Amino acid sequence: MNSKEILWSEIVSKISKCSKCGLHRHRTNPVPGEGSLYSRMLLIGEAPGKSEDEEGRPFVGAAGKLLTELLEVRGIKRSEVFITNVVKCRPPNNREPYDEEIRACSEYTVSIIKLVSPKMIVTLGNHAGKFIFELGGVRWVSVSRMRGRSYKMDIVGIKEVLVIPTYHPATALYNPNIRSVLESDFDMIKEYYFIEYSMGGIKRRTLLDFIEGEHH
Ligand code: URA
Ligand code: SF4
Repeated sequence: MNSKEILWSEIVSKISKCSKCGLHRHRTNPVPGEGSLYSRMLLIGEAPGKSEDEEGRPFVGAAGKLLTELLEVRGIKRSEVFITNVVKCRPPNNREPYDEEIRACSEYTVSIIKLVSPKMIVTLGNHAGKFIFELGGVRWVSVSRMRGRSYKMDIVGIKEVLVIPTYHPATALYNPNIRSVLESDFDMIKEYYFIEYSMGGIKRRTLLDFIEGEHH
């Protein structure tokens, strides 16, 4: 194992023993997250549901099937990005996580972001959006007010992370209008992702720098 993999296994092991919030009493398996530790893009959702709790993996139920499809039809393999949640244990009856649970779990969320050190963070739903925007010192209103554009912010010491807020894919399962909004948000996510990809990590640039650079 290299040093990133060692650090990751330490985070996973801490989470598996964690009892920092009441959610540990309800879990079958903790769901720390999965994907490439070297990804340019990290996606962050809300909380494990029933399937995730059973498997110990994020986004493997109905919402996960939609998320995987939103990525893969755009040529982004699920395994090449990193996926986690603001809380790592399943809330009872699929209720939303409380702020104090998100705060208790933030130690792990922050460690994961630092470890992956992504150039882009996609927030899925209000809880993830609020958490990441607070970390970046940018005022959060709501997904409907914030989505449709990207925000550059410094997060946990990582400079100029491009944050793209969108709806939680579960919302599209009961509201078909949200589905088309998610599709267009993922079109934008794809654009940024492949521009970062073509930059090959040689220089950290965003779409805006790229376009500006073309005109000079
Ligand atoms: N919803 C989430 O927010 N996260 C998961 O991992 C699965 C469903
Ligand atoms: Fe610990 Fe996070 Fe699970 Fe709460 S949700 S018990 S803080 S790992």
